[in-house]
Amino acid sequence: MANSTFNRRNFLFLGATATLGMATQAMPVPKEKKKKKSKEKKKKDIVYRTLGNTGIEVPIVSMGVMRADNPNILKAAYEIGIRHFDTASGYQDGRNEEMVGQYFKDIPRDQVIISTKIHPPKEGCSTEQFIEKLDQSLKRLQMGYVDILYLHAGSDVAYIMDPRYTEALKRAKASGKARFIGVSTHANMAKVINAAVDSKLYEVILTSYNFTLKDDADLQKALQKASDAGLGIVGMKSMAGGFLDKEKKKRVNCKAALKWVLSNPLIHTAIPGLTNFEMLKENWKVAQNHDLDETEKCDLQLAMNEVGLYCRGCMSCSGQCPQNLPIPDLMRSYMYNYGYGYPAKAQTTVAKLNLSHNPCEECPGCTVACPSGFDVRERITDIARIKMVPANFLV
Ligand code: SF4
Ligand code: SF4
Repeated sequence: MANSTFNRRNFLFLGATATLGMATQAMPVPKEKKKKKSKEKKKKDIVYRTLGNTGIEVPIVSMGVMRADNPNILKAAYEIGIRHFDTASGYQDGRNEEMVGQYFKDIPRDQVIISTKIHPPKEGCSTEQFIEKLDQSLKRLQMGYVDILYLHAGSDVAYIMDPRYTEALKRAKASGKARFIGVSTHANMAKVINAAVDSKLYEVILTSYNFTLKDDADLQKALQKASDAGLGIVGMKSMAGGFLDKEKKKRVNCKAALKWVLSNPLIHTAIPGLTNFEMLKENWKVAQNHDLDETEKCDLQLAMNEVGLYCRGCMSCSGQCPQNLPIPDLMRSYMYNYGYGYPAKAQTTVAKLNLSHNPCEECPGCTVACPSGFDVRERITDIARIKMVPANFLV
């Protein structure tokens, strides 16, 4: 934990050594329950794992490109040894894919693993329209295929099994435009993962996963099931928002958070977002050693005691709001804005929801109880305003 009133010194000042001991014991690293061996090896001090039955072998630290807008960070990441780069058709209105394509056009295609994601519009789209979106992505990427094509942001079974999209994914694979197909999820993860495994269609899961989910037994079981079925499993949202408060005084120990994710052998690689060289260097050290020391465990335990910015996607709020507001999406937007410092992404996420700039305005009193402790009304009222800001004012 860095900065602020929420630092180790204060913790030690307030607590005794016994408290520290309690804190470190209370943050177990995730363990694989069944003894299915993860295919893991070290090459030149870097830990590699295999993405299930895809056979793709990558360093455990990959790169989420979403927030990067400087091709030099891609170059540095590739040169340091990162081989898996994750983007999406919607990131930066397609400019993110363009940047990836611009940099990797001169790198032999079989030297990198590129994934992208397609998110159908809220009102849905046909199989053909989905394929058109993929073709646009491939054009921006200047590639004939992607290694992994995800159906983006699955939070319910009906969406990930929608025949329009499953047919599009099958066609993408049959035509060679995608080597493997997957689904990404950051809400209702356990149900989505279980359904993806049962479908026998999906080959890779990209899931939200971090230390705040340590007690989510359903998620752990779903990951085990996916692993047993041979799916590749990629972790995202590993930093749980990066900060714990909107004022950015309480920073998550990001290195510890990434180590926690990768200490679970069911997670084959993680895609932390990279925007600068310091982050790159720090993350890359985790590819060499993901053992948490006692201080790092303590930092994570302290972070667990905070409400934080990260929505665990538990869906307990589902059905509680009489207006049926998409609360997890709004909470994620809040995190993008205040945790990631990425208001442009917060705005595009909010804009897709087609809400007013103050959706709780007419509501006499909030009926939503969030187990994470979010004041849902306050956060919605805060973040929904972002749709009023001209997009060119935001980065
Ligand atoms: S109840 Fe809270 S943590 Fe769970 S999905 Fe809703 S907002 Fe997120
Ligand atoms: S205040 Fe907002 S989130 Fe809460 S119940 Fe009312 S409309 Fe729903």
